[in-house]
Amino acid sequence: MRVRFPRRPFLRIDLHTHSSYSDGVLTPAALIQRAALCAVSTIALTDHDEMGGVAEASSVARGMGIRLISGVEISVSWRAQTIHVVGLDVDPEHVLLAQGLAGLREARQVRALKIGEQLCAAGLPDITHDMATGAGNSGALGRGHFARALVASGRAKNAAEAFRRFLADGKPGFVSQKWSELDQAVGWIRSAGGFAILAHPERYRISRPITKALLEDFKLCGGHGIEICRGDPGVAAEQIRSARQLGFMVSGGSDFHGPGAGSCDLGNVAAIHADPAAIWLHQDFGRHCH
Ligand code: AMP
Ligand code: MN
Ligand code: MN
Ligand code: MN
Repeated sequence: MRVRFPRRPFLRIDLHTHSSYSDGVLTPAALIQRAALCAVSTIALTDHDEMGGVAEASSVARGMGIRLISGVEISVSWRAQTIHVVGLDVDPEHVLLAQGLAGLREARQVRALKIGEQLCAAGLPDITHDMATGAGNSGALGRGHFARALVASGRAKNAAEAFRRFLADGKPGFVSQKWSELDQAVGWIRSAGGFAILAHPERYRISRPITKALLEDFKLCGGHGIEICRGDPGVAAEQIRSARQLGFMVSGGSDFHGPGAGSCDLGNVAAIHADPAAIWLHQDFGRHCH
């Protein structure tokens, strides 16, 4: 199906999105169809610790004249924090990356069982079994799946409440997890020929000095760029300044998880199109696209 692009001042770029291969709602094909409707001409699929959706997204995108960047969002433990590193334009077949992600998905399966047990112990119904056998689930099970199951069973009115009451740190369903190391995650991305981008730096609950230390560490590990905040122009300006100081490129993504109230739609990214450090201007960007 070829979709007509709506009239928009420019075609948009979105380098952070999720499908049903992790905690997104839409299948890769439906995601690409929505990208066309949102006038997004270049989109990266960046599922959590999983690249299984890239082939489907890529074949649908090709038929619609959309550029699909193969991507992934890797879970990392840095100091006491969980942080996310987005890999863009990686070779999805690269063995080191594929093995690293497989290990993280195994950890996710084990964690999901523990989350399920803890929720049961807190008097909630057993939702793990339905989730683990759910259609389209290839193993990157996460708290997003639990949040949806809790909403579907009437235990929370929306995902935000499910996190607040059951899944956030300190709540009955929280299981602390050791993910990959920062240098490992960046190493996997680099060896797969991709660009390593620190995802949503404004979302980590860390002070300014610790954020600065994170950015410096990320640079030392070989990180290429940082994702610029789409919501708050003041935060975005500060992040762009930090990027300049440390020699990072800048990237933008919606972190779209599905259509619906409160969630941000495809193409809703920071206004960095004119920035010379935008990652999509890099000469090697997009070389794994077919
Ligand atoms: P996980 O990697 O399994 O720990 O899950 C992290 C994911 O949970 C994030 O990528 C978001 O999609 C989702 N998430 C985290 N916090 C919230 C929240 N407060 N409300 C809704 N979704 C959230
Ligand atoms: Mn998510
Ligand atoms: Mn993230
Ligand atoms: Mn994400």
